[in-house]
Amino acid sequence: MKPKYLIMRQIAPFLKDLLFPRRCVSCGKIDTFLCDKCASMMLSVSSHKCLFCKKMIDGQICDSCKKEFRVKNAYVSVYYREGPARDLIVNLKFKGKKEIAGLMGTMVAEKMLQSWRVRPFRGSNPFKDYVLVPVPLDKRRKNERGFNQSELLARELGRSLGLEVRKILGKRLRAPQMGLNRKERQQNLKGAFYGISKPPKKVLLVDDVLTTGATVKECTRVLKENGAREVAVAVFARD
Ligand SMILES: [Zn+2]
Ligand SMILES: [Zn+2]
Repeated sequence: MKPKYLIMRQIAPFLKDLLFPRRCVSCGKIDTFLCDKCASMMLSVSSHKCLFCKKMIDGQICDSCKKEFRVKNAYVSVYYREGPARDLIVNLKFKGKKEIAGLMGTMVAEKMLQSWRVRPFRGSNPFKDYVLVPVPLDKRRKNERGFNQSELLARELGRSLGLEVRKILGKRLRAPQMGLNRKERQQNLKGAFYGISKPPKKVLLVDDVLTTGATVKECTRVLKENGAREVAVAVFARD
């Protein structure tokens, strides 16, 4: 690479910050995507409620959801109905601010590491055998958006936790899930996902939001049919 380009590459981020300063997605404060005040307003996901059916339990997934969704474990960072968490998602997905995925990925990694610290684990990283698999977008959606937010999240998680990312799932075009109820969502997603290549034994499925769990259920079914033994889920936010 020519020295001139190298210099430009080093200067470019500074210029970008100068011309388009980062602003808090929620309150507009300059210099950061999420200021400390707004970050402190985000509601961390409770560890006493089932992540899928929201039943009060001691743990993260109740026994009947473990059976239904066939996932070993789930890590979800925050609730997103409104407020800063929702603002982060909207800015990433609908305003194309890809850099925000870095912040969201770091938050999910932090959540995972927290759950590791509070348990009496001995020895090495308990996530080390997992391979990160992002939930795919269909081709049309990916072309419109220009990126898959789950893939960006997975990459950041991979960096934070030292794990490999593999794109081994594909998605066929389906009507949007928005506005559909739980049953309709499951129906709409039947057969939507397919395997591109053989999955690793232990998969950590990565998505940006969790609503009814229909996506998780369908992706897990495909991964297990193709040979994955264990599937866990890492998601930024729950509604
Ligand atoms: Zn703020
Ligand atoms: Zn449940």
